[in-house]
This record gives sequence, C-alpha cells and structure tokens, in this order.
Amino acid sequence: MARVTRPDRQDRTDPMKEEILAHLRYSLGKDAEHAALYDWRMALSLSLRDRMVDSWYQSTKASYTGHKKRVYYLSMEFLIGRLIEDVAANIGLTDEARAAVTELGQDYDILVHDEPDAALGNGGLGRLAACFMDSLATLGIPAMGYGIRYEHGLFEQDFVEGQQIEKPETWLAQRHAWEFERPEVSYKIGFGGHVQHHEGKAKWHPHETVLATAFDTPVVGWQGRWGNTLRLWSARPQKEFDLASFNRGDYLAASRSEALARTICRVLYPDDTTESGKELRLKQEYFFTAASIHDLLRRFFIDHDDIRALPDAAAIQLNDTHPAIAGPELVRILVDIHGLEMAEAIELARRCLGYTNHTLLPEALERWPEWLLGRVLPRHLEIIRSIEDSQQSHHPDSPRILDHGNVNMGELAFIMAHKVNGVSALHTDLVKSTVFADLHRIHPNRIVNQTNGITPRRWLYECNPALSKLITREIGDAWPADLDQLSRLRDRSGDHGFLQEFMAAKRVNKERLSNWVQEHCGIAIDPDAMFDVQIKRIHEYKRQLMNILETIAFWNEIHANPNGNWTPRVKIFGGKAAPGYHVAKQIIRLINDVAGVLNNDPVTKDLLKIVYPPNYNVTMAEMLIPAADLSEQISTAGKEASGTGNMKFALNGALTIGTLDGANVEIRDHVGPENFFLFGLTAAEVTERRSHHGYARAAIEQSPRMQKVLAQIAEGRFSPEEPSRYHDLVGNLWDHDHFLVSCDFDTYFDMQRRADEAFTQTSSWAAMALNNTAGVGWFSSDRTIRGYARDIWNVGSAIDGELEQSA
Ligand SMILES: *Cc1c(COP(=O)(O)O)cnc(C)c1O
Repeated sequence: MARVTRPDRQDRTDPMKEEILAHLRYSLGKDAEHAALYDWRMALSLSLRDRMVDSWYQSTKASYTGHKKRVYYLSMEFLIGRLIEDVAANIGLTDEARAAVTELGQDYDILVHDEPDAALGNGGLGRLAACFMDSLATLGIPAMGYGIRYEHGLFEQDFVEGQQIEKPETWLAQRHAWEFERPEVSYKIGFGGHVQHHEGKAKWHPHETVLATAFDTPVVGWQGRWGNTLRLWSARPQKEFDLASFNRGDYLAASRSEALARTICRVLYPDDTTESGKELRLKQEYFFTAASIHDLLRRFFIDHDDIRALPDAAAIQLNDTHPAIAGPELVRILVDIHGLEMAEAIELARRCLGYTNHTLLPEALERWPEWLLGRVLPRHLEIIRSIEDSQQSHHPDSPRILDHGNVNMGELAFIMAHKVNGVSALHTDLVKSTVFADLHRIHPNRIVNQTNGITPRRWLYECNPALSKLITREIGDAWPADLDQLSRLRDRSGDHGFLQEFMAAKRVNKERLSNWVQEHCGIAIDPDAMFDVQIKRIHEYKRQLMNILETIAFWNEIHANPNGNWTPRVKIFGGKAAPGYHVAKQIIRLINDVAGVLNNDPVTKDLLKIVYPPNYNVTMAEMLIPAADLSEQISTAGKEASGTGNMKFALNGALTIGTLDGANVEIRDHVGPENFFLFGLTAAEVTERRSHHGYARAAIEQSPRMQKVLAQIAEGRFSPEEPSRYHDLVGNLWDHDHFLVSCDFDTYFDMQRRADEAFTQTSSWAAMALNNTAGVGWFSSDRTIRGYARDIWNVGSAIDGELEQSA
C-alpha cells in the first residue's frame, strides 16, 4: 500500500500550507486575516484528516474485496485524547505540519493545545480501547471500533478549597474535526413493549424507538499503511413513529422518543466501576450494542447469503460486560428474523463472541434486576432464559445467569463467548480461581490471558520527543512499530556517556513540567528533586491514601532531623473520583489539605512538595509521565486487574515502586527485579490476612510511625478549621481497612527510603531507568493485539502478506 507521506516538494509551493489556507477559506469561511485560533486549529486538523482519507479508503476497499475477516471491538468507552499530534506522527507529517503552520504566522504548539481532549471514557478500560484501535490499524487488521458518541465526556474536575467539584465537559461544543457524519447509516433501536408469540415464532413490538446514527473517525496506523474506523453512535428521535403517534393524538408517546433520544447519548457514566441498576445505563448499553450488531450484519450480507458463515467473517470482542447484551441480541436476530433453531443460534453467536474481563471487584460486576431488564428488553429476557436452560441442560452444575431476581452479566458474557480473557497473568489466574472458578471447571479451555499493552506511538514517540530522538539515534527508527527492539539499549547500561544523555532527556521533561507546575499551580518545584508520580482514578484499592500517609511520615522524619541527608522529593498526584464516591473524595481533600501545610512549611519546603493539578486526563498524562522518576503502582495485591499506567511510566524510564499486582508482576520480570522497588503482601497473603479478625488494629499498633500520622490527621493538624474532618477516614483505617493500608504501610515506607538512597547514586539510577525502558518492549499493545488475533479472533493482517487469512 502506498505511503501517505509525500516528502519531495520542498522547492515548490508548500502543499500543506495551501491546504490549510484552502480549508480556512472553504471549510471555515474565513481568510487568514480574520481567522481565530479555532479556525486555524480546525483548518490544520482538516488538512491532516484529508491525508488520512486515501489510505483509509483503500483499506476499507481492500477489506471488502479481500473478504477479510473483521474484528468488531465493542466498548462503552474510548479514552482518545487529542489527535493532531497523534495523526501527524502516524502519517509522518509532524515536521511538515509544524513548518506550514509556522510559515503561516501561527504558533503550532498553541494550536495543538487548543484541541479538546476527547474523554469518552473514565480511565484504563477506555484508554485500552484507544490503544487497541491504534495497534489494529498499525498491524493492518481489518477492524471497527464501536462505541457511543457522548455529548458530554468525563466531567471536568476542579478543586475548591481542596474539594473536588465536577463541571460538565463540552468537547462537542465546537465541531469535532476528525469525524464524518453518516446520516445514511442509521438503525432503529427499540425499547420496552411486549413480545407476541404465534405458531412458535416470537415477535418483539417495542414501545419506543430511537434512531442510531453513525459518526466515523478514521484511525490510521503507523506510517499510514492501513486505516480502520471508529464508529460512534448518536441517537436521534424516530420521526415516522413520532408522526404516527402524534396523528393519533398521543402527544406523550410522540415526544417520548425525542426525550429518550436526547438523553441516551447525553453523558458518559462517570464511574470507573459499573453503575448498575440505572435504567438509562442499560439503555445506553443496548443502544450501541444493537446498532453495532445491525451494522456488522448489514456489512456481512453485502457479500454473503448464509448467516451460518458469520463466524468466518466477524470476530466480536466485548470490552467488559457493558456490551454483553450482544449475545442475546445476536441470538434474537438469528432466531426471530433468520429462523434458526435456538440451539444453533446460541452456538453460532458464541463462535463470534469474545469477552474481556476487567475486574474482580464484586461491586463492579454488572447485575441487572430481572424486572428492569424484562421491562426494557422483554424479548432479550426470554432469550436469556433460553440460554440459561441450554446451559443448565448441558451442565446442570453451571452457575446461573438468572439468580435471586438478578441477571448476572458476567455469567451471561462468559457463557455466550467462545473465549474469555483476563488482562494480566495474575488477573487471569484469579479469574480462573475466583469469579469464574465454577465456569472454568466446566469450560477449562475457555479462559485465556492477554496481558494489556499500550501504544508506543502515543506513549513514547509523541509524548517524549527528547527520549525518542535519542533512541532513534541509537537503534534506528523501526522501534515504534517493533518495540522489542528497545532491548538493544540494554548494552548501553554501562556506557556512562549514553546514560548521561538518557538522563538529560529526562531532565528536559522535568524542566518542562516544572515550568508548567509553576504556571498552573503556582508551586515552585526543583527539577533536581525526585519526581514521584501517582496518577490514576482515585479508588481505595489503588491506595492514594497510603501514599499521602507515607508523605506525612516522611515529613515527620525530616522534622525530627532537619539537617539530615534527605533526598528532595516532589510528590505528584492526579486523578478524579467518581462523583458519588464519598471516601475517594475525602482522600482528594486530604491530599490537598496536607499539600497546603507541607508546601508552606519553611523547614521542609525545599525537601518535600506536593503537587495535585486538577483534571487529570490523557493530555496531562502525556506531560507527567515522561517527567517521572518514580512510578507509584501500590494497589492492594489482587485488586488491580492489570494497570496500563504502570507500563507507560516504565517505558519512559521511571522506576516503579509497587506491589505484586496486575501487570506489575510481569513488568518486574521484564525489567529485572533489581530495577523495581517491590514491597507489600502478595495476593495470597492479602486473602490470608483478611481472615484474621482485627488485622488493621494489630498492624497499626505495631507501627509507631503510622500511629503518629493517624493521630496528626485525627487531631486536625491538616484541617485546623475543622479538626473532625477526617475522623471517619482515620477510624475506618483502625477498624476495617479493607484494602490493607495498615499492613503494607511500614514496608512501603522502608522501600521509599531505599528509593531515596538509590536516587542519590545518579549513575546506577540512570542504568536502572534505562533498563526499564529497554525491558518493556513486550508491553506494546501491538503484542497484545497479535495475541488476541491468534488466540481469540483467528484473524490475519491485510498488509505485507504478514499473515494469510486462515480458512
Ligand atoms: C493510562 C491511563 C489510565 C490508566 O491508568 P492506571 O494507572 O492503569 O489506572 C487512566 N487515565 C488516563 C488518562 C490514562 O492515560
């Protein structure tokens, strides 16, 4: 396939410049004299989008004519971030775009930063979907991502007196430059109503209907060799239905579909675990899943007439249980519309479906009350009963989908999938031994592991130009598409000159961050200090609380010996709490309260600073991660399914302080245990410890250091205007401490001091940092996607003849 880059036109008029001016004039209706920042940014984005279209179009055509099996990735969330730099990098136009914009008298960086950060997701799960889209395109695997075009993405976070407040996010207030609206691609999606049974046939008569309309964003992979589509569904009222009701005088029914259409794509649920029991959420799930199934079937029937060939043409991957209704929906269409027998339909659907499990937290496993599901999707509830009957007839000891008046979406997804995967080696083991232990016994070959990955394009090449240039100089420019090549840098860990250059790149990023922090938070930080970063959703299991307690303990230690030989630190936090998650919000407030005291302490302020910029998102991650020395991955063992933030940090040369949880285990194996600060109970030890009554109190009583910290908080040392503010938080640590902060606190503190010591040995630290970058090539999402393609989807690449389609 032809490359998109056109490098050899320097002497003639600059085409990129001409294209930007043309878009300014003909797409934005402005001339250069009157164009605002928005106009320039849109003109640049549209010019870049133009350069994607040919490759995208050719890829789509090749998928059709080559009859390639396609992957359909169904995800309730896509945490995409900004696209200008991403697109420019992937199609090799970064320099050309910057030059064109500069010649037009505009500041390229200001244009780039004007783009809203598309936040159609909460955290790791949505970001994984975005990384997978990049890798699918880079590997040339024909694929489509399906999701929802939320009008409001994840809320914007602000702090008022240290407390999180939520503001609506408005990424669509301005036109989204990258998408193509497809009004002709639309499907009727029904809700409610009743089912009519006649002569052994069922017909669902929905009570209300909305139209799902497609918006397509091209996703072009590395070097523009292949392009896939991210198709996001938007809801519109269904006009004909409205009119009919209206003419009958049923004004309420006429406006109902309009009201539903308006709400269904309005907001992203702002919870990184599942908000179950909410009817609108169930409707969102069915809305996008049903539209996607209709769409892929329409595509299938363009060149097939026997539905039985569907598994050879379509691999449908469910990112968590949110689209698990895909199983019953597909069965419904096969039985009610195509006339298949129930048993055959279930088997056929299963051969198409794969399910990715993302969590073991019981509160995050989706369950719908049977009455609610039956009211919104009456035919689907009947089909779920048939699926249950079929499963029970083959396996009378099988766990139930329908249980105590609930529909267990995890069991449904498992039973309807031919493969179920966990997202790290440890997580997959725990999936087998805990949540799905019984189903695993019945279906011992169904669960497989696919350890998560991250795209090295966004998470090294684009976000860390200083390090990227150095790496390219050393090992050539093939690494962004073949990240294992980073292992060649291992030889350099004894090369003093190279290590200095490696740390000079880190220094550039730390200075950039220091300036940003000064400007945006008004806090002066020293780029020579260790930058210690914990950025992720605020959750008790992720233990930001343990981090801030340790910070206070360190502060106490400095006070006890102000002339000691302390290693200066900057503790950086970032992350949002779900709006209804009270404890998480208390933790945020505590961090900000502690920051207020410590940052103004004349004794310690040159040794210890706390920075917590509000509104953590993809863009902020791209700035913080390259500047980090130490990566905090300190979740209670057994609770973090994988983590992907951990991978981004290691790739950018930060050392991890972490527990044996999620992918930390595999990261440590890859970078070498000597390059990783390990502490804490193992998953097995956590389970064991929990069985001891009063384990938290016992642990705190053994730790004078922790006692002192808890006493300070409880006395109001950090909230003098309201001393009782954290009574519940502290009381809970003594009495419950479900996430074992108390049990890991001392070993965590000790390991932090080991990190202090190691940081002062600058050349051995540099070698350890380099071994992290050199060791984590395996965590490219390209490797993850190859694994899914081989073990779950049975699909090949359509470029390079890399893999021929298997029959
Ligand atoms: C990578 C990423 C995450 C996931 O971070 P974890 O540390 O794995 O929880 C969440 N949010 C954003 C913006 C990210 O880029």
